[in-house]
Amino acid sequence: MVQHQYPVSQTGVRSPSRPPKDMEDFRSRKRRRAASDPSRHTSERFAWPEPVLPANLVHDPEFWFDDGSVVLTALNVGFRVYRRILEEHSPFFKDMFRIPQPAHALTVEGCPVVVLVDTPQQLRHMLRVLFPTSGNLRFGKQEAPITMDAVAAVVRLSHKYQMDQLLAQALSALMEFYTDDFHEWIKRDRKTTMTAMPIDAITAISLAHLTSTPSILPLAYFHACCAGSQVLRGCVRDGAWAEPLTYVDLIRVMDGRPSFVHALNKMVCRIFKPETSAACLDSRRCLRVMTARACDMSDYLEMAYGAMFALGVSLCSFAAVHGEVELTTGMRLCDKCRSMLKERELEEKKELWNDIPSIFDMEEPEGWQVE
Ligand SMILES: [Zn+2]
Repeated sequence: MVQHQYPVSQTGVRSPSRPPKDMEDFRSRKRRRAASDPSRHTSERFAWPEPVLPANLVHDPEFWFDDGSVVLTALNVGFRVYRRILEEHSPFFKDMFRIPQPAHALTVEGCPVVVLVDTPQQLRHMLRVLFPTSGNLRFGKQEAPITMDAVAAVVRLSHKYQMDQLLAQALSALMEFYTDDFHEWIKRDRKTTMTAMPIDAITAISLAHLTSTPSILPLAYFHACCAGSQVLRGCVRDGAWAEPLTYVDLIRVMDGRPSFVHALNKMVCRIFKPETSAACLDSRRCLRVMTARACDMSDYLEMAYGAMFALGVSLCSFAAVHGEVELTTGMRLCDKCRSMLKERELEEKKELWNDIPSIFDMEEPEGWQVE
């Protein structure tokens, strides 16, 4: 939310229905003065107290440029940055700066002040993109993945302040991680711009709703249901505030979990079905290996249900494990059976993928199904 006040003085007024303490002081001072004032019979003019800056305003250590032209405040932190750059990226700020300032507008070190109701952490994440300082200058590929805190702050603020290009960039990182592309999802060496824990999916769900980006939702629900009871507490953003799931989304995640586990069990059992390739030249031998593998089913389920099993499902290759030398028999599946297993696993993963929207009782995003 933005306090639609630029500069601060336009919003510093308080509600007439609740006169503040300093207003009472103001009136009692005025009464005392009026008693000895020859002009006391003239009509009294009503006056609001002058607006004030946030108490104990501190300069942000990262974004206080001495030659900056505007001061943004978030809580009691001031950010002195460049008005021209804000205008360039944001029609919201451009329009705001067009409003003529009243003569009594507050300034800090000669700069107009804009009071924002975002947190200093959120603002810092956005300013790091708009004003790359030496500490966060990027050239080429990012060395470390971007955190969900940063992505979430940039998506929220760029959406609020109409910074369309920035919003598109931040959303693309989110859409890449919570992809709607099956073939990307199953890549074992998939590199993503951002990284996230399963609980961070709560924020992804919220951002998908905020920005009307439904393609994020299926995998976000999928990840969230891997976070267990943590979803009841919400996820902590910027180490400061907890973001909860909405009631409707909580139902989707909680009801979706048993359906998801069922679908996953079915997938693993089907992959390890002891049935050899039609082209196999020694099916008795391969069947023996497959049966021995099926005895280790609990190990494969362990692979599927690791701590981060939403990622595990896409990344682990059951067929690759199945294709290795079987320890009990000392034998290995023939080439035909190994490639048949690879194909079988791919088909099973496609089926699981296609079922994700219905598992979470959501409307299927356009183009979700994979053939
Ligand atoms: Zn075979």
